[in-house]
Amino acid sequence: MREEVLLLISPETAGNPDRLKNRVARELSVDAKTIAHVEPLRRSIDARSKRVKIRLKVAAYLGAAPQLTEFRAPEVQSVDHAPPVVIVGAGPAGLFACLTLIEKGLKPVLVERGKDVRSRLKDLAAISRQHVVDPNSNYCFGEGGAGTYSDGKLYTRSTKRGDVREILETLVRFGAPKSILVDAHPHIGSNKLPGIIGTMRKYIQQCGGEVHFGQQVTDFHRENGRLTGVSTAQGKTFLGAAVLLATGHSARDIFELLHAKSIALEAKPFALGVRVEHPQSLIDQIQYHQPQRGEWLPAASYSLVHQVDGRGVFSFCMCPGGIIAPCATSPGEVVTNGWSPSQRNTPYANSGIVVSVDPKDYQATANDPLSGLRFQQNIEKLAWEAGGRSQVAPAQRLVDFVANRASHELPKTSYFPGVAPAKLGEVLPPFVNRRLQRAFKAFGKKMRGYMHPEAVVVGVESRTSSPVRIPRDPESLQHPQVPGLYPCGEGGGYAGGIVSAAMDGQRCARKMAEAILRS
Ligand SMILES: Cc1cc2nc3c(=O)[nH]c(=O)nc-3n(C[C@H](O)[C@H](O)[C@H](O)COP(=O)(O)OP(=O)(O)OC[C@H]3O[C@@H](n4cnc5c(N)ncnc54)[C@H](O)[C@@H]3O)c2cc1C
Repeated sequence: MREEVLLLISPETAGNPDRLKNRVARELSVDAKTIAHVEPLRRSIDARSKRVKIRLKVAAYLGAAPQLTEFRAPEVQSVDHAPPVVIVGAGPAGLFACLTLIEKGLKPVLVERGKDVRSRLKDLAAISRQHVVDPNSNYCFGEGGAGTYSDGKLYTRSTKRGDVREILETLVRFGAPKSILVDAHPHIGSNKLPGIIGTMRKYIQQCGGEVHFGQQVTDFHRENGRLTGVSTAQGKTFLGAAVLLATGHSARDIFELLHAKSIALEAKPFALGVRVEHPQSLIDQIQYHQPQRGEWLPAASYSLVHQVDGRGVFSFCMCPGGIIAPCATSPGEVVTNGWSPSQRNTPYANSGIVVSVDPKDYQATANDPLSGLRFQQNIEKLAWEAGGRSQVAPAQRLVDFVANRASHELPKTSYFPGVAPAKLGEVLPPFVNRRLQRAFKAFGKKMRGYMHPEAVVVGVESRTSSPVRIPRDPESLQHPQVPGLYPCGEGGGYAGGIVSAAMDGQRCARKMAEAILRS
């Protein structure tokens, strides 16, 4: 017999299987010995009151132990001789599109400018240690896309755009921990993601899909107006029945290429700001209302939002127990983002704090849809100058940033290339700077202790989402001007984050398959 129980329990009970079983038995008024198995279904932290509780939904199996669902890798399905389809970009959108195409009986030909997950590591180290940014291999470009060396947070608000559970189960099939199916705010961690991505790629290859690394797309191939392939800077051409373009928000060359070919693009809102970093122990104290979080609670996170002069200022990609990462994609720019290992066990808590930016702020016009891109790039260059023309990032103590005064020295941060004292108000546009200062003051009131002298702001957080949209027909998902072109994922302007990009990849691949198999 299976009984579902909803519990509000101490973190210690939730983390100890024997105590949990006894608690479930009490709830069901049965002897604990009759419970064969307790399966967690949903877990969240309730830190609203003084004593932090875990809200846990479980299924209790009385009598016989259940047949538990095993999440195995999908069966290899040969698409060796199937019609090929070109996928550009091996981020979550491109990879999930490949998996869906295989399911539908089509052969994905995946073209990626960067390297495989393992080879990418050397280039990431070079950014931190030698301050050298390889424009084809960095935190945004390479196998797995921008999501590979990330926190791997899998929480999304885009639940209407696809089946979130299906994405999470697919990740589990390729090696993600089963806890992501239970946690209200699931995450994988940057140490585990590369293995999962690599397993996914091997499966695509085993099925007969092609994966081409080190191939930067620089041109399109059209037949009778229809997009049927791409050529690369390395001199190769890849042809197929259609092209899915999943190149992410940082592929400025792709936006330039589309614009040069008079393929319509649109400027879109994005967000801009800084990364703020606190000691993790401080965030734990604030959020859990106790001096130490103890053994049973994870590193605490937060989510903040405040309206200033009609604009949203909000926390973005908060990484408890994480690291601030150097995410530039070209030399001569400084860009920050954040990641965490699966244990979220560094002594730092960082988060993007960003202000919504509207196309009106950078005078976008229909003729110049790339003005947002240049606006973004200019701020990244200013950050590079302010940091001392290397990957050293400009930074300021939070209390100094809010008070508009320079910091003479800075606390230790997790940002490996190093930080240099600078006034971020000289890097950020005034409308962003002013709103950030006011929002931080408000955050300090919402979270007592947040305006801590050891908290530091690091510039700039500029790649929150794409400043450009590649239009697509809402029904066919193809570009209205170019049949065969399927703009997809974050670069198209249709996703923000790993899960929503993966869902968009699936959606576009299904539409592609429908159209190709029908014709
Ligand atoms: C450090 C960091 C941490 C993050 N943390 C999280 C997180 O915890 N949770 C979350 O949901 N999201 C996170 N994100 C955002 C997330 O990674 C993206 O939203 C997501 O990866 C977008 O997926 P995508 O497939 O649309 O594009 P991308 O992942 O950007 O993939 C695009 C791919 O296209 C390739 N490409 C680009 N141009 C070309 C070209 N010309 N030719 C060939 N290939 C090309 C790139 O190399 C890249 O591999 C993080 C991002 C970063 C950088």
